[in-house]
Amino acid sequence: MNLVLFGPPGAGKGTQAKILQERRGWPQLSTGEMLRHAIGTGTELGRKTKDLMDRGELVPDEVVIAIIAERVDEPDSAAGAVFDGFPRTIPQARALDSMLGQRGKRIALVIELMVRDDALIQRVEQRIREGNQRADDTPETLRHRLSVYYRNTAPLLDYYREQGKLAGVDGMAPIHEVTAAIGGLVDSCGNGAGAGNEGPNRQRKSVVGTG
Ligand code: AMP
Repeated sequence: MNLVLFGPPGAGKGTQAKILQERRGWPQLSTGEMLRHAIGTGTELGRKTKDLMDRGELVPDEVVIAIIAERVDEPDSAAGAVFDGFPRTIPQARALDSMLGQRGKRIALVIELMVRDDALIQRVEQRIREGNQRADDTPETLRHRLSVYYRNTAPLLDYYREQGKLAGVDGMAPIHEVTAAIGGLVDSCGNGAGAGNEGPNRQRKSVVGTG
């Protein structure tokens, strides 16, 4: 199954994508991790994107679309993949739909991890206390990344809602509960119950300060 984990920076998409990869065998396709890898190995792609990433800006659509296009053709993605941090703009979502469509595939499910802004800020402060933070992981950069999220990425919620693919999970719950909720959605989608379940699983989001 091809599914998208959606949500603001720090919502827990990476954690849940890794768990899905382990349990279901669908690789985690994280554009953020691919770009950090490019920076770490000193490639031209990394040199071009580092500054944007450190500032919490989006990397140009054509750059991330190209790295995902390469990745979906790897054999490990044949049975599906978990898209984590991609797509982040409407053009990226359209490109993903067409890329998968050309290969006879589709996004079956989009799961939004709903976490309030104040909790995201608390999480980053916690990572700083634990000394467990990235270059773009400061409260200031997070605030900027949140404003980019609300401006460029949140409109994708309507895009996927209109396709009947969007479901929401309370991302404020403990990790194992979030995992269980995602597992339930994946199972019901895989059983043919459809991915458009916005009823009992979709809880209201309360957003504090939309950036
Ligand atoms: P992430 O690890 O997903 O939070 O991504 C870290 C950073 O990589 C983002 O703040 C962006 O600068 C860049 N990035 C990752 N994925 C994308 C994407 N799909 N579109 C544009 N920029 C991205």
